[in-house]
Amino acid sequence: MNRRFPFEELRDRWSDLSFAEVRRWRAQHPDGKVVGTFPVWVPAEVIHAAGALPVGLYGAGTLIDIEYADARMQSFICSIARSTLELGLRGYLDFLDGMVFPSICDVARNLSGVWARNFPRQWVFYMHLPENPESRHAVPYMVAELRRLVRGLEDLTGRPISAEALRRSIELYEENRRLIRTLYHIKAEEPARLSTCETYALVRAGSLIPVEEHNRLLTEALGEIQGRDVHHRRDRIRALLEGSFCEQPPLDFLWVLEEAGCYILDDDLLVGRRFFEAAVPPAEDPVEALAVAYLRSGRSTAIRYDGPARRVEAFLERVRRLRVDGVIFAYAKFCDPAQFDYVLLKERLEKAGVPCLVLEFEEKMTTFEAVQNQVETFVESILFYS
Ligand code: SF4
Repeated sequence: MNRRFPFEELRDRWSDLSFAEVRRWRAQHPDGKVVGTFPVWVPAEVIHAAGALPVGLYGAGTLIDIEYADARMQSFICSIARSTLELGLRGYLDFLDGMVFPSICDVARNLSGVWARNFPRQWVFYMHLPENPESRHAVPYMVAELRRLVRGLEDLTGRPISAEALRRSIELYEENRRLIRTLYHIKAEEPARLSTCETYALVRAGSLIPVEEHNRLLTEALGEIQGRDVHHRRDRIRALLEGSFCEQPPLDFLWVLEEAGCYILDDDLLVGRRFFEAAVPPAEDPVEALAVAYLRSGRSTAIRYDGPARRVEAFLERVRRLRVDGVIFAYAKFCDPAQFDYVLLKERLEKAGVPCLVLEFEEKMTTFEAVQNQVETFVESILFYS
């Protein structure tokens, strides 16, 4: 009999508000600093090299009602911004010494300012990512921005970040990305072997623990997954899930997509954990290596804009490579980058004859019947009428 990896136990790690693993790390490292990161991508390697613990924050899911955050931000914005702020205001993130926000959208920009004002004892860093990766100025610009991050972290921790320490951290995160890519490779090749909910639980567990621990966890889980007996089902379509790169849908939402008849071969959930699609290039200067990796092999998403033509081509190439039957766009309510991206991609998918379905979610969604009906109809239309 196969021994199943304890995915439910993994899910429980982020499904309450105790942040027990972060507090455990803090207790073991009394002088250590904890730095929160907002999606989509922040170079956790640099935080790790400073001897601090990077903690990926993804809102509060269904766990709290918004009581205080609405007084500081407008209410017609995505849930992740409001609930992350609510977590802070209610004291659930009292272990944080700092926060890093990447420049993904106006909401994240505003949140970084609101954060700095409401948590004056924390170090708050807003990271300006290059808007045009093709520009000849992009690499030096990004290097300068990463060096600004290095200096900020050095001030926070009171210790210098050596090139050697950063190289070592990059190696650990390279291993982490390699393991996550292996999970996704299995999903694409043998989708019955590994569900999206399991993959999600495994990757998300890494947001709260040191990368060394996450690498061990992934290695152990991969051993179990590769030894499973697998039964493929014929009544399922091969689907691609796109649009959930920042705010995360409820786990039940993902479960419903699969139950309604989808093998999800790839997605952009927690995509910052595997943002580089190729190895970080060797370079004497590890800061420059990270900058080049972001600009040359960063995943094409709605928030890493390199022009509509390149964005569409990268997406269609993924659709072709995975031989998907259909695409499900699932984006957070009020997420402008995802909605603009959807309009761009939908038109080209239709021209290419690839069916697509669009769904909107919110963190606090608790009923999924309508989603299930929509997905079942989508699946049947492909299975029986294509
Ligand atoms: S969910 Fe969308 S709008 Fe909200 S912070 Fe993320 S990218 Fe910005």
